[in-house]
Amino acid sequence: MLQPIRLISEAAELAARRHNGMARKGRGNEPYINHLAEVANLLAVATDGADAELVAAGWLHDTVEDTDTTREELGTKFTERIAALVVEVTDDMSLPKPQRRQKQIEDAPHKSPGAKMIKIADKISNIRARTVPNPSKEERDDLVDYIAWAEKVVAGCRGVNPMLDAKFDETVEAARSAL
Ligand code: ZN
Repeated sequence: MLQPIRLISEAAELAARRHNGMARKGRGNEPYINHLAEVANLLAVATDGADAELVAAGWLHDTVEDTDTTREELGTKFTERIAALVVEVTDDMSLPKPQRRQKQIEDAPHKSPGAKMIKIADKISNIRARTVPNPSKEERDDLVDYIAWAEKVVAGCRGVNPMLDAKFDETVEAARSAL
């Protein structure tokens, strides 16, 4: 395995290249990499920097779902565990959105501890992005809908890292009070 700082640095660079030009959903046209940086950093803080592969997987977590990156490539460039973590949090994009959402709820309790942590960090980041000042009706409805679903997914991911569990709850509370 690459030395830990190098592992994370190379993961961040590959993620930046592969998601180049992509923007996040929501206001502000934020670059997609802001989402990846946020997820990776939530994981680094929650584990106090003890798990370099998890942080690298945080940078890479959307590469297989949203870009032409493959599991094989991640296994070769990084580690098998990183490749496996990314695949664990990759949705089957051939399914329609309602089925993908339902599958996430059903599959969450059976994921590995690392994948559960990535899922929670991902939902925290996505709720934060949807929490905006003076939301329109559409933004409000989208946030309410997203939180209701995210809570069901996260219910199946709790118990691995108390800090992430608490941060999710705080994020939901802050989002609801901004509605
Ligand atoms: Zn994501």
